[in-house]
Amino acid sequence: MVLLDGKKTSQEIKNELKLAVDAIRQQGGKIPHLAAVLVGNDGASETYVASKVKSCEEVGFGSTLIRLDANISENELLQTIERLNKDPEVDGFIVQLPLPKHISENKVIESIAPEKDVDGFHPINIGRMAKNLPAYIPATPYGILQMLERYNIETSGKHCVVIGRSNIVGSPMSILMARNTKIGNCTVTLCHSKTQNLEEFTKKADIVIVALGKPEFLTANMVKEGAVIIDVGITRVEDSSKKSGYRIVGDVCFDEVSQKASFITPVPGGVGLMTVTSLMQNTLLAAQKRVYQ
Ligand code: NAD
Repeated sequence: MVLLDGKKTSQEIKNELKLAVDAIRQQGGKIPHLAAVLVGNDGASETYVASKVKSCEEVGFGSTLIRLDANISENELLQTIERLNKDPEVDGFIVQLPLPKHISENKVIESIAPEKDVDGFHPINIGRMAKNLPAYIPATPYGILQMLERYNIETSGKHCVVIGRSNIVGSPMSILMARNTKIGNCTVTLCHSKTQNLEEFTKKADIVIVALGKPEFLTANMVKEGAVIIDVGITRVEDSSKKSGYRIVGDVCFDEVSQKASFITPVPGGVGLMTVTSLMQNTLLAAQKRVYQ
């Protein structure tokens, strides 16, 4: 079994990004700049945004964190987005989800200029991705693709089962794995909460990508010998032995599934770290105008 090491792989990518920033600086070009909008003070969102800003600093990008009160009106948020759309200093920006209930996420996402939508959530980017045109690929699926590529995992002709159909992970992942690209060309089965006899699909899968948010959901009896297992799940589970009072658990029962897997991502230390570096890579693409010329 080979551990798909998100720490090592994301560090490799960060080193590549640092080199890219150095080259831009030497040529007198514009340093990539990512802005993040955080509405309210949800604990998990705070952590995610903080790690995105920290990663920007690490690779030498500029960053701006815009904090807005949880009671802000939808209109005020849309005005902030409009300002960022027009700000020439900002190459790309994200609005951290989830948003408070009184704000429409769809409206917010659709108000972001597609060429600055480095999260890749705008329908134009999703459509371009599905058509295999240049697009910002959502960060978590993009991170998974890179993990598969950097570990030379053959995907062509394989059966890939994706569990979970969210707009940010499962659905784009299923599209990406079926595309006619180097990492792709799979026969894909997309499973979700209404799937019956899920095990019948997972047991036949060469690659299983699990993104449903149920701790240790995928057990050894559900996978075949030699399968590639990608665990996207991140759930905080109470643990009084930890200083924080909780530990992070994935959607895969790692101890038993790792005995059968050929490759597997750990949690923590797997996909989560790749997500942040993929966002940085999209920001570099935005700064270099390589997606939208
Ligand atoms: P979600 O929470 O929006 O939706 C869950 C999905 O799981 C749904 O599509 C649902 O149909 C499916 N599902 C629920 N129960 C099921 C069952 N019994 N069988 C099959 N499918 C079932 O999904 P999400 O936002 O993609 O999040 C999934 C998990 O991934 C969460 O733990 C989240 O924290 C984590 N996540 C991690 C990263 C990362 O960077 N590693 C990024 C995003 C999400």
